[in-house]
Amino acid sequence: MKAEIISIGTELLLGQVDNSNAAYLSRELASLGIEVYHHVTVGDNPDRLIEAVKQAEERVDLVIMSGGLGPTEDDITKKTMAEYLKVDLILHEETEDKIITYHKNSDFEMPENNQLQALILADSLALTNDTGLAVGMMLSKGGHHYVLLPGPPDELEPMVKNYLNEELVKHTLNEQVLISRVLRFFGLTEAQLAKRISSIIQSQSNPTIAIYANEGEITIRITAKADDEDKGNKEIDKIEEEIMSHLSDYFYGYGDKRLADVIKDMLLERDLTITAAESLTGGAFLSMLTSDLSAGSIIEGGLVTYSADKKNNVLKVTKETIEKYGVVSPECAIEMAEKSRKLFGADIGVGLTGVAGPSSLENQIPGTVWIGIAFKDKQSFSKHYHFGFKRNKNRMLAVLNAMELVRR
Ligand code: ATP
Ligand code: MG
Repeated sequence: MKAEIISIGTELLLGQVDNSNAAYLSRELASLGIEVYHHVTVGDNPDRLIEAVKQAEERVDLVIMSGGLGPTEDDITKKTMAEYLKVDLILHEETEDKIITYHKNSDFEMPENNQLQALILADSLALTNDTGLAVGMMLSKGGHHYVLLPGPPDELEPMVKNYLNEELVKHTLNEQVLISRVLRFFGLTEAQLAKRISSIIQSQSNPTIAIYANEGEITIRITAKADDEDKGNKEIDKIEEEIMSHLSDYFYGYGDKRLADVIKDMLLERDLTITAAESLTGGAFLSMLTSDLSAGSIIEGGLVTYSADKKNNVLKVTKETIEKYGVVSPECAIEMAEKSRKLFGADIGVGLTGVAGPSSLENQIPGTVWIGIAFKDKQSFSKHYHFGFKRNKNRMLAVLNAMELVRR
């Protein structure tokens, strides 16, 4: 099954809105094992939309359109497709009821043309909208599948997640099931990861694998089509084992767990508390760990000591350490970890110091980072990194690598 995505909206051509829908749809389709061959963007113009649809029909089976389902003059997708495919527009009562109820319960008066939003292409499957009023649809005709989705990402994404994936699978896979599993890795780049498993990538057909990088963490999604769930899972187990034989050193978890979630779970499970004294990361390490309610059980506090003076005056890193070794040093990182651990009475203390960039510090080049880890009942240690990116990426990598040190 080959697919093409047509994004509709003059705002996209003008560069006023980033085309995140096309990227999102491509990722979702890849995870379903459907290959996207082209992305096309057109303005809110019926002739050019038809031209794009004709072109797509020549080269793919599945044409997915986003945008232009609303009630305004420039929302042309439904009308244009109805004329082009020679199908009627009919009223979708469920959507009409929804529009009427919505306007009853809100301060807005229902405009006449709002009911346009309740029209769907005859014989299409209506895709209900959980977060808005425009209804999506899916239609198969003349050997092609057409999918019409609303433009706003907060409407399109749930529609795809809730209904479309399943319907697409039904239409395109003939009763087979589709199962996927996500493996998460840290500590190497996307390119390094891909190189290690290049033979697996090259020989993939079913299951398929897709690699994504997300702020330093890398995920591999394995997707299998099979007659039943059991068979699919067995296929996935096989590929997972093969992948792990190359990458197990970097594996840290399954599903949508981020590195920070894994640390939180681990600390909660072992009933441990953590704190940090942060310099170049400015609190980002603790910020990531405090993103949900469980934080209260693992964190009581922490410090940002950015200047050398505050490292000494507030955190009590000794003057000797700062003068003899500098603030960008293993000695300082360890002392930051140890002093903060004692100050907050935590089981684990983390010290983050380094040169975020773009300028150098203490003759050390940007991207130089020392991370210190202190424990209640184990020897403290530090680790040196050199990331060599721009300021914010260096800071982000310092945070994630500190998480990784704690995890290990
Ligand atoms: P509405 O009922 O909101 O009018 P619609 O289906 O008619 O929905 P559009 O009018 O085409 O959608 O777009 C509405 C908004 O959705 C746009 O102004 C834009 O902010 C966003 N949007 C549209 N297309 C995309 C896209 N491809 N990627 C990201 N955002 C988009
Ligand atoms: Mg609109």
